[in-house]
Parts: sequence; structure tokens; C-alpha cells
Amino acid sequence: MKTYQIAIIGIGKITQDQHLPVIAKDKRFKLAAVVSQRGIAHPGAPTFRTPAELYAALPDVDAVAICTPPHVRHALAREALNAGKHVLLEKPPAPTMAEMHDLTSYAAAKGHVIFATWHSRYNEGVDLARNLMAGRKLRSAHIEWKEDVRRWHPGQDWIWDAGNFGVFDPGINALSIFTKIMPEPAFIKSAELTFPANRDTPIAASLVMSSPAGASADTRLTADFDWRQEGEQSWNIDIVLDDGAKLRLTHGGTKLWVDGAMHFEAPMHEYEAIYRRFAELLDAGTSEMDAAPFQLVADAFLVGRRATTASFAW
Ligand code: NAP
Repeated sequence: MKTYQIAIIGIGKITQDQHLPVIAKDKRFKLAAVVSQRGIAHPGAPTFRTPAELYAALPDVDAVAICTPPHVRHALAREALNAGKHVLLEKPPAPTMAEMHDLTSYAAAKGHVIFATWHSRYNEGVDLARNLMAGRKLRSAHIEWKEDVRRWHPGQDWIWDAGNFGVFDPGINALSIFTKIMPEPAFIKSAELTFPANRDTPIAASLVMSSPAGASADTRLTADFDWRQEGEQSWNIDIVLDDGAKLRLTHGGTKLWVDGAMHFEAPMHEYEAIYRRFAELLDAGTSEMDAAPFQLVADAFLVGRRATTASFAW
């Protein structure tokens, strides 16, 4: 089986935490280079300051993983496709739906693979929940995704710039699970987005959704995202099926509870699974660009009411 030469663009937190160590132990990939504006070095692979320098120096690189903030991804992805590379995109894949769709069609036109990763989908508990919900109606669903922005995004000021999602940066992870397990699509009906007085992206959001999978007109599908939670972090999805059965995904989808009892638990290996999937897509010459989680976020911004809260400082 082919080993793919891959380079990473953007050597920040998620690259250091996941992409570099996972690629290092994956036999289907060989790290060929890193691209870092700041010139961050990584043992065993050269550093380039720009993708253009990488493409000129190492024409045999097969693929790039783009791990920058989302607002710069579209240009970087098009540049990679123009250079004849396959592309893996960290989540969220782009700042706008139109840019995401453009990348999907541009990659197809170029005959290259493009892969929008949604890392939270790669837990077995999520697949089990999806199987238990298949073909069923729901009485209710509630997403509670509350974490401490200072802990997970220390000093990342870009996250507060318009186009970089704010609390929807983690919230879209919950929605990527939700859109995977729901038996039918969900739609945003209303939203309240809470912005710090001095910032351009929300620090909290509440969503109300509907779905043809609702058991009745009273079905409540809701989500609460909040970046101000200190102490224990909450990454939970609670579902009540039409027969009263209760499913609960906790710890980001690594644990599944059914009627209060532990049904399944496994350690988190999301990025190992992402790279397994990328190798499959590359072998098959197939792209995967599911826009469903992104659509819900975009629609929340479209219909959301704005509230203002205290200014945010690190
Ligand atoms: P980060 O630590 O700020 O790293 C992003 C890196 O991208 C920067 O260090 C910089 O690296 C590069 N970059 C290129 N253009 C940039 C620009 N215009 N502004 C700022 N940086 C630029 O961010 P991160 O936490 O790794 O997040 C990156 C993406 O991964 C986000 O979309 C996020 O949602 C996703 N993600 C993050 C986590 C997490 O735990 N943090 C988890 C899963 C997914 P160089 O200087 O080396 O070029």
C-alpha cells in the first residue's frame, strides 16, 4: 500500500497536540515538511515559511493538512489544489459556506481529494448512538457544550475575529456529532448569540432546532454553548426517543449511556481515525466534504438575536 508524503501548514496547538504525533505513528503517511509563518521547526522534516516555497522545493509531496485558523484556509486550499496536492482541512473547513462549496467543486474539477475533518465524529460511542437512533423519532434532544476558552484556546486572539466562529469553534464539534446521529436533518428555528462587548464573535449561544424526526409538535431540540465554564467541562448530548429510552453521550462522545447505565466507553483516538479515513479517501480517490454541521452554525448566525455581555480579556 502506498505511503503518502504529507506536509502540515500551520504549526499551532492542534498540530502539536495531534497531527504531528499521529502522523509519526501512522504507516500510511510520512511527514515530508512543515509550513510555519513563524519558522517553527520539527525534527526530521524541513520547515518552509510559505506553501509556495514547499511546493517548489518538494514537488513529490502528495497532500497537505491545513491546520491554520479557518479564515485563511480557502486561499491556502486553492493554492494546494493548484499545486496538485490533496487536502485535509481542520474543522471548521472555511469561514463561509460559499468558500467550502467552492473548495468541494474546485477539488473535483482538479481531480484531487479534499477532506473536511470533523474530529468529534470519530468516536465509537457516536456510531453506536447513531445505530440506536436509526429510523426512530425523538421526544427531545439537548446539547450542552460548555468549556473554558482560556484553557483550550490560550491567547488565541484570532478566535474573537469575525469569521473565526467564537464559541461555535467548539460548538460545531457538538453539531458534527448531532448531524451524524440524527435520523433526519435538523433546522435552526431560533438562536441567541451572546457577544462580549469588546469582541466580534460570541462567547455563548443557545439554539432551538426542529426536525422531521421529532415525535410531535412538542419535541424540543436545543443546544447551549458557553465558553465561560470553569472546573469540570461539559460535552454532553442527551436524547429521549419516542418510547422514552434515554441516550446520553458524554465526554465528547467517548461514553454512551442508555437509560442511565454505561453502554459503551472507549479512549479518545479521534485523530488516528481521521488519518485512517484520509488514507482510505486517498486510496479511493474520493473526497468527503459534509457541510451539515457548518450549515447549522451559519443558520444560527442568520436567524440569531444578539445579546451583549461583559468584555472579555485573557
Ligand atoms: P493555533 O494554536 O492558533 O494555531 C494556528 C496556527 O496557524 C498558528 O500557530 C500559525 O502557525 C498558523 N497560522 C497561519 N495563518 C495564520 C493567521 N492568519 N493567524 C493565526 N495563525 C495563523 O490554533 P489551533 O488551536 O491549533 O486551531 C487551529 C484549527 O484547529 C482551528 O480551526 C481549530 O478549530 C482546530 N482545532 C483546534 C483544537 C484545539 O484543541 N486547539 C482541536 C481541534 C481542532 P505558524 O506560525 O506555524 O504558521
